[in-house]
Amino acid sequence: MGRYTGPACRLCRREGQKLFLKGARCYMAKCAIEQGHAAPGQHGARRGRKMSEYGQQLRQKQCLRRQFGMQELQFRRFFKEALRRKGVTGEILLQLLETRLDNMVYRLGFASSRRAARQFVLHGHIMVNGKVATIPSMIQKVGDVIEVRDRPRSRDMAARSLEAATTQQTPTWVALDRREFRAELQSIPTREQIAPIVDEQAIVELYSR
Ligand code: SF4
Repeated sequence: MGRYTGPACRLCRREGQKLFLKGARCYMAKCAIEQGHAAPGQHGARRGRKMSEYGQQLRQKQCLRRQFGMQELQFRRFFKEALRRKGVTGEILLQLLETRLDNMVYRLGFASSRRAARQFVLHGHIMVNGKVATIPSMIQKVGDVIEVRDRPRSRDMAARSLEAATTQQTPTWVALDRREFRAELQSIPTREQIAPIVDEQAIVELYSR
């Protein structure tokens, strides 16, 4: 499936907020948002533009989709799945995104960004429940065990990321054993635990138009 491979910071500048797409750099003063760079394009620097309700909803959706590095089609598939499940659609969407394998690898600190985590999974460095898993969008269930393969190359890369990930907190809904490079999903995170950067209800309204 195709995906955006252009400059990551451009996406943050477009959304006017940090999407944390580049690992350690996102926590430094070099970050384009920290430096107050304007949105990309000829009119990017124009401020105070009044946005329609549709425009606001669209921006929220783009923000979340870009944060997870997904294309529209795949994002919509996740939304449809959230709609199909019982419960509050917006919260379920967030939970589905949060329990994607690549996102969990990033959250656990085995990779420095979601992009890097996606590569890490695709290159076969991760096992789920004892089997090599190479599908980044695979949804994890409670009780699933994610671990870095017991190979020097895999573990070295994960160890370097774990060391650098000190600014990131390990989620409370996983039990991480750093020495064994292994973690178990203990519960599906609540909206409060996820602390989304967007108003997910706006996305539900956008797709319900
Ligand atoms: Fe976004 Fe990170 Fe670039 Fe900052 S450094 S603009 S958070 S990708």
